[in-house]
Amino acid sequence: MSSPQPSILNKLIGNAPLRTVLIVPFVLQIIGAVGIVGYLSFRNGQKAVNDLASQLRTEVSSRIDQHLDSQLDTARHLAQVNADAFDVGLLDPKDLDNMTRFFWKQMQLFNIGYISFGAPGGEFAGAGYHLDKNIQMGIVDPKKNGTRDFYNYNADSRGNKTTLIDTYKNYQFKKELWYSNTVKAGKPTWVLYQWEITPFPLAVSANRPIYGRKNQLIGVIGIDQRLSQISDFLRQLKVSKSGRTFIVERSGLMVASSSTEKPFKLIDGKPKRLKASESSDGQIQSAARYLLKHFGGDFNNIKDAQQLDFLLNKERQFVQVLPWKDEWGLDWLVVVVVPESDFMGQINANTRTTILFCIGALIVATVVGFYTSRLIAGPIALLSKASQDFASGKFDRTVEVSGKNELGVLSESFNDMAQQLRDSFTALENTNAELEKRVEERTVELKIAKEMADGANRAKSEFLANMSHELRTPLNGILGYAQILQRSEPLTHKGRGGVDIIYQCGSHLLTLINDVLDLSKIEAGKLELHPAAFHLPSFIQGVAEICAIRAEEKAISFDLQVDPQLPAGVCGDEKRLRQVLLNLLSNAVKFTEKGGVIFQVDVLQDAEFSDGSSQLENSTENSYKIWFRVEDTGPGMTPAQVQKIFLPFEQVGDVKKQSEGTGLGLAIAQKIVRLMQSEIAIGSRPGEGSIFSFEVELPEAQNWADSSRIVEQGAVLGYQGDKRKILVVDDRWENRAVLVNLLQPIGFEMIEAADGKEGLDIALAAAPDLILTDLAMPVMDGFELLRDIRAHPQLREAIVLVSSASVFEIDRQKSLDAGGNDFLPKPVQADLLLGLLKKYLQLEWVYGETADAGEKAQQGTIGKMQLPAIEILQLLNEQAQAGDLDAVIEIAEQIQTANPEHATFAKKILVLAEGFQVKELRALIEEHLS
Ligand code: ADP
Repeated sequence: MSSPQPSILNKLIGNAPLRTVLIVPFVLQIIGAVGIVGYLSFRNGQKAVNDLASQLRTEVSSRIDQHLDSQLDTARHLAQVNADAFDVGLLDPKDLDNMTRFFWKQMQLFNIGYISFGAPGGEFAGAGYHLDKNIQMGIVDPKKNGTRDFYNYNADSRGNKTTLIDTYKNYQFKKELWYSNTVKAGKPTWVLYQWEITPFPLAVSANRPIYGRKNQLIGVIGIDQRLSQISDFLRQLKVSKSGRTFIVERSGLMVASSSTEKPFKLIDGKPKRLKASESSDGQIQSAARYLLKHFGGDFNNIKDAQQLDFLLNKERQFVQVLPWKDEWGLDWLVVVVVPESDFMGQINANTRTTILFCIGALIVATVVGFYTSRLIAGPIALLSKASQDFASGKFDRTVEVSGKNELGVLSESFNDMAQQLRDSFTALENTNAELEKRVEERTVELKIAKEMADGANRAKSEFLANMSHELRTPLNGILGYAQILQRSEPLTHKGRGGVDIIYQCGSHLLTLINDVLDLSKIEAGKLELHPAAFHLPSFIQGVAEICAIRAEEKAISFDLQVDPQLPAGVCGDEKRLRQVLLNLLSNAVKFTEKGGVIFQVDVLQDAEFSDGSSQLENSTENSYKIWFRVEDTGPGMTPAQVQKIFLPFEQVGDVKKQSEGTGLGLAIAQKIVRLMQSEIAIGSRPGEGSIFSFEVELPEAQNWADSSRIVEQGAVLGYQGDKRKILVVDDRWENRAVLVNLLQPIGFEMIEAADGKEGLDIALAAAPDLILTDLAMPVMDGFELLRDIRAHPQLREAIVLVSSASVFEIDRQKSLDAGGNDFLPKPVQADLLLGLLKKYLQLEWVYGETADAGEKAQQGTIGKMQLPAIEILQLLNEQAQAGDLDAVIEIAEQIQTANPEHATFAKKILVLAEGFQVKELRALIEEHLS
């Protein structure tokens, strides 16, 4: 199961220092909390402001509405009252002074601008505010004054004219709208007009026509309400810091506003009304324009109260527009404009404070977080540093314990752990040191033991070499003389048998010595292969022949099956290959009593080399896999026995047969085959027989003929040509005797010397054709002798053969290096000796008995056993049937001596008769009779 992938957050946190991990979330939390609170309070404030602004606008609008109602109602009512006074005759249109005094008194009571009366005859009476803050009285009396000039008087506290303030020439009040419009309308009506005289105040006047009994116009009463008074009211209304209120007519002309601007302009001394949308006050102007735009360019489209808002210089402006109407036909719009910033100022200030608090809190939180994290992370960092040091091998680290909290406990635990680890390491180091010491001691012991073992091995090798030397020397005598006796004059049957047994026993002993030496060499890894070119068919023939003879002696068949494809010359260690094959074949023959042995040699395949050359091209780089197979019909072996037979000195099966062997053959054979990179395989069944086989790869060799050995051609009787002189140098008389007795009978002149010194002297004196010298000798040894011979001008060219019982390869090589022509191992093998003599003295042997073995080898067949005459066979049969074995032996011996060509048959008969194997004897004779 795969572990879950760490999230990005985990990765970030995992890599960030602990301090950051502790501070950042802390700060983030504070920013989050303060931010959300700030945002919510800002939003709530904004909402409250909206509500407040809405309420305020409504409130302000309704107050203006009330004010207008009350102010203009007064004017209306007063117009009505005064008209009524005329109607009922309380006021006389002719008594202008009285009328002005009455108006003056009314002015004291009511908050209005001016009360006027105009008559069609041009008479005018009025009282009210004109130029200053005092109530003045004005009269135009054409009848009395003869002019239409306007006389403006001050009044005393009782309303009587006092002083004339100024006069206005030809006051044409009838042109003024209050009069003309009312006369035109013929009913009470409102008129908004501008005075014809300075300061041209703008006024709204409630007017009423007065008719006489005959419905003739007596005059018009007008009650002025100056618009500046409404503006004053609007100004004194506290909307907000920079809020505005204004009143417009549906035509868009300004009536009054809370700004200081007048609702008209003087152009060339003439007043001109101002449109709200042209006001110099930005707020009024933009509000009027916004409303116009919003209501399709016409204020008449505003039917009822509306609350709206718009942006002015990116600031929100709340607007309330309220239509105001009056019974006499006034139709105005009251507009209240409140900028949001008036309310938001506090809220923005609050927001700024919140942000400042937030920053403050952040700084505090960061500082606190920094110190908190230092408090936490500091000890942890120390711990981590200590752990890292610990991991890198600085075991002396401890952590300072601060306080009793979790970190303190952790530090304490770390110190405890570190101490324990230190103790463990110390213990480990001690153990290591102890172990090292022990190993050293053991090494020393082992060294001593190895030296002892080497010494023992050397001693063993020396012992083996010496023993073998010591054993070979007497054996040389035994075998030498056995061979001499075998080759010399005819002996009695018993005598020859005795010599044969001596030779066989000696050979057996020699084999045993050689085997033991081979094995010890193999085990010491000193056995090496010496490959050389040789003729494979004749080699196989030679091996087969030896075993065929033994098989024949045992009266079992021996079948050689050679692959016709067999190469002629191959390169290999002929001596070792022969040793292996002879071991397998002689075992097969030895253990087989019935049936026979098949020796099969096959070419398995040609191993091609990388250059692609093949066997057909007969290239020297070709090599052959040769398969050797030895099959017998002997006793066979159980699997358990098979497992044991390759072990040294292991013998299985028939005890009688065991005594004939050493139990070393197969062990050595297997080791040699392994040196050849192969393995001996066994197939065996008890009671049926065994098959031993192995394959070796042998490179082809063309120059085999040079080194091929001469096949023995029979017993040597002498040689052609002059008599040759041979000097034998050996300190042991028996060794000298063997050589002398071997060579003298075949025509050599033999001279003897007991040591090197003597040998040198004799060689100089007698000038032998060939010198045979031993190596180990007193006075002067073989090596010294060789060096002296090669150094001596007279002897430099002499042929010297070294013959030694030394088993050391090195001795053999040393002797050749010292100048020896060749080496002859002891015990001396006659065939080998004769071969060397033939080679170095260029001799032609004279043979006593010729059998063309070389030819046989080439043919690949073994000569057939020749039989005596049928009469002799019958005689043998009779004696055998009668059980007279002595008679049988006698006849066989006679056959042997009389007819050497029948010797093989005679020998078989002798073996069976002497072994009391009557059944087999009878069977053999019968077989050849039929
Ligand atoms: P030995 O000198 O006794 O022949 P080897 O090592 O050659 O020693 O053989 C070991 C043993 O293996 C023999 O003693 C014999 O018991 C058994 N052995 C070898 N070859 C054969 C065979 N062909 N048939 C039966 N037994 C065999």
